[in-house]
Amino acid sequence: MRKPLVAGNWKMNGSSASNNVLLDGIIAKSDTFASVDVALFPPAVYLHQVQQALAGTGLFWGTQNLSQFNQGAYTGEISALMLADFDCDYVLIGHSERRCLYAELDLDQRVLDRIVAEKYEMSVKAGITPIICIGESPEEHAVGRTEEVIARLLDTVIAYQGVEGLAHTVLAYEPVWAIGTGRSATPEWAQDVHSFMRQRVAKHDPTIAESLRILYGGSVNSNNAAPLFSQPDVDGGLVGGGSLNADEFVKICQAAV
Ligand code: PGA
Repeated sequence: MRKPLVAGNWKMNGSSASNNVLLDGIIAKSDTFASVDVALFPPAVYLHQVQQALAGTGLFWGTQNLSQFNQGAYTGEISALMLADFDCDYVLIGHSERRCLYAELDLDQRVLDRIVAEKYEMSVKAGITPIICIGESPEEHAVGRTEEVIARLLDTVIAYQGVEGLAHTVLAYEPVWAIGTGRSATPEWAQDVHSFMRQRVAKHDPTIAESLRILYGGSVNSNNAAPLFSQPDVDGGLVGGGSLNADEFVKICQAAV
């Protein structure tokens, strides 16, 4: 069976002081969700703080992005080797807020997909498990292009790295219309899309597809987490706003038990 994973994406939130309160609150209750993998994704400047707090607790940590290059003249970027230096277990790749806000909007969509695939390769080589985020925009959703968008990204990653790479990968279905909107996908919708993703991978390798963890992300909270996580192809969640309060995040983690 697949072990559930709950990932807390802090986005650009927190301070040294507020992080300590959040970390203490989560660590204090971590024995109540011991059967779940839980990973925290602070802003990179707080990586050391999170590493210090979580080392030895059984909880994991990582960053919200990484460079597709190893080192050099890439101002503001962080490499996979640097993440490994801070013992990161996971890294988020291709989050829609990176794709939409910071990707050059005039770049061809296929170029963006390739950059995501290159980042994926960098993280796998450094021994860091990538969590690749994919999902359709509100416009794509409205015209029924969900499966087409997801298939394109999955196929790009598989073409670039081979399906074997997915054995060391987590996928996150993150419909952009559900992120930060308070409007989560229904459990049935999430299940349908997750099942589509698993079947697409299974065409290449059924064994890898069966063991692949697929998270749902988009307005997960302590009320909707249990019905979402109980779907057969939903293996946990990628949580934004709901990860910023210890009580709320602990309840979401407990819903994955
Ligand atoms: P949200 O964000 O839970 O605040 O909707 C999810 C995400 O962007 O990972």
